[in-house]
Amino acid sequence: MSLINCPECKKQINSEVDFCPHCGKKQDKSLVEKKPIKKSTIILMSFIGIIVLICFIILKQPPSLTPEQKKQQEKIEAENKRLSSLFGEAPRVSSWDGSVYIVKQTIEASAKDPDSLVFENWSGLGYNNQGWTVKVIYRGKNSFGGYVRECKWFVIKFGNIISVFNCN
Ligand SMILES: [Zn+2]
Repeated sequence: MSLINCPECKKQINSEVDFCPHCGKKQDKSLVEKKPIKKSTIILMSFIGIIVLICFIILKQPPSLTPEQKKQQEKIEAENKRLSSLFGEAPRVSSWDGSVYIVKQTIEASAKDPDSLVFENWSGLGYNNQGWTVKVIYRGKNSFGGYVRECKWFVIKFGNIISVFNCN
């Protein structure tokens, strides 16, 4: 119980009585001061708030790499940077068949019968001490109408084919 002032006669009365013992005024319980929010409730609410906030931040983060993966990625990026400063940007490679655009174009341009060309295999892009490299195996009609099968290495530097040689 607590003591409050009667709203009518202003004398101190027990907050739980229905009528003022001094003036008989009916006490309106809804006017009685509400209990202050407990400290423990405030702490609990802030705790829940912080948890929700942390969950929200975690969910917004992209999946993080392990330190090992991060190291690996940095290594690859550094290597790509070094190679592109030496040989120019890596030649465009088709994600469809692994063909290197500039090489395919060059072979087609020099073929006797471009429509007869069949590219059998692309090695994927690599590099040597001269530039970007790719090996390609292809077939095509020669000037006599017969099919020839070729295997060639191409070396590309700053967007140009700088050398071509036959596979061993
Ligand atoms: Zn009263």
